[in-house]
Amino acid sequence: MNLTSGKLNIVGIGPGNDEHITPAALSAIKEADYVIGYTTYINLVKHHLGGKQVTRTGMTEEITRAQTAVDTARSGKTVTLISSGDAGVYGMAGLVFEVLRNIGWKKGDSPEIKMIPGITADSSCASLVGAPLVHDAARISLSDLLTPWSVIENRIESAAKGDFVINLYNPASGRRQRQIVEAARIIRKYRPGGTPVALVKSAYRRQEMVQFSDLDHFLEFEIGMNTTVIIGSSQSFVYEGFFVTPRGYGNKYSLEDGSVRPGQTRAISLRGEGDLASRPIEHGSLPNLNITKIQGAFVRTSTTVFDPEEEDIKPDTSAANALAALQFLEPIQTKDTLREELHSKEEISLLGRLGGGIILKDQNDFFLVGKLKQPIDLETFGFFNISEQYENFQPLKIKDQSLTDQIQFKVLISPPKERDPQFIYDLFAIYRNSSVSERLWNYVLDNGQNTLWNGKEYIDARWLGNSPRQIWSVFRETLLKC
Ligand code: SAH
Repeated sequence: MNLTSGKLNIVGIGPGNDEHITPAALSAIKEADYVIGYTTYINLVKHHLGGKQVTRTGMTEEITRAQTAVDTARSGKTVTLISSGDAGVYGMAGLVFEVLRNIGWKKGDSPEIKMIPGITADSSCASLVGAPLVHDAARISLSDLLTPWSVIENRIESAAKGDFVINLYNPASGRRQRQIVEAARIIRKYRPGGTPVALVKSAYRRQEMVQFSDLDHFLEFEIGMNTTVIIGSSQSFVYEGFFVTPRGYGNKYSLEDGSVRPGQTRAISLRGEGDLASRPIEHGSLPNLNITKIQGAFVRTSTTVFDPEEEDIKPDTSAANALAALQFLEPIQTKDTLREELHSKEEISLLGRLGGGIILKDQNDFFLVGKLKQPIDLETFGFFNISEQYENFQPLKIKDQSLTDQIQFKVLISPPKERDPQFIYDLFAIYRNSSVSERLWNYVLDNGQNTLWNGKEYIDARWLGNSPRQIWSVFRETLLKC
């Protein structure tokens, strides 16, 4: 293990102009002592490199480039390795990890590795021609410098057969001209000659050029190493100069008035021959999947004057929801007011829309915020009292006309005491998503001690709440991997 701690940022700079570099990529470039990348990419960001040590490398020097980046970062420097687009898409990232594996680098060793995403060539190029990638698309590189042509050919064939929109990267170079001709021939077996094709060269760079064509004619135009070729699916069309692949709304809805077509249902799988609903479930039953649901997916449209001041205090939606919920719970202060009824839709939805997850043991009370849906078995998520202090507490009730059965939560929700909601949130927030709180809770179920309360068995998760912040970080990184 190397104890000098260096850092290696692996950064995608997007297509090539400043407007399309993400702020995160830019700050990774700015914080670097040493920047390394292929000459063309270095040139694209050179005005940000004043005072830095910079290594420009040639096209076929990727291995040396990756090794130099790793070695320099290992010695304690902050190194930023740049690729165009996204470094994880035909970029340097893969090679860096191979080099790291080769030298036996382990998590925690120097250098720390940080991946920073960038806008990929297919997104950039698509934006210049319309919306060709709205449905399933495949990325295929025609470069056979490192991949056998038989593999590439098979992928083209499969993508063509699968009716994917196809993005061809590295379509041709001075020395590689047969590949694109072959690709066109294979795709033509499955798609009509009039299928839209866009050739986008050097998107968002000075030499930018966009050419529309079709499958039978696109080879007549200039294609090179800076071109991405987008080949439409059977559904793609060109309308008023925009290349579009429809998402499929027309299968379910009338595009005139938005009404649902006969036999179809909003928000339910498309019905038709061979749909999943018409097939028996094999092997008896479905596994119990951990599905993250989108909050507010089916809320009614509302239009208001947006007040950024109001929004500003919310760090992110799950955090904001959790904070709002904790604030909402604040008035439930004393033993006497443990019995609460929720009446309004707002109150209920506040409880029901908590994202993220918090588990907290504060003095004698548990807090668990997150993964709450209604109706829901709140007990599963820790909302119950195991302290003697509240022996006589009454269940919290939720009343709402839209709910046929009145739901009774056997739950004690305790307010934060001296601690303010922000503190609690900061202490135990899991910002990511509800599947994280699910995993966390599963961990508690596996490792918590069972406790008897009112003759029933409950999980004692008190130990969890006592973890100091540092332990919590380790917990998140090693167990939850988030
Ligand atoms: N990491 C890059 C891809 C590198 S592979 C990314 O995520 O975008 C190099 C290929 O990407 C080129 O041959 C070309 O097909 C495509 N490409 C990269 N930048 C491009 C641009 N600005 N305009 C058009 N195509 C581009």
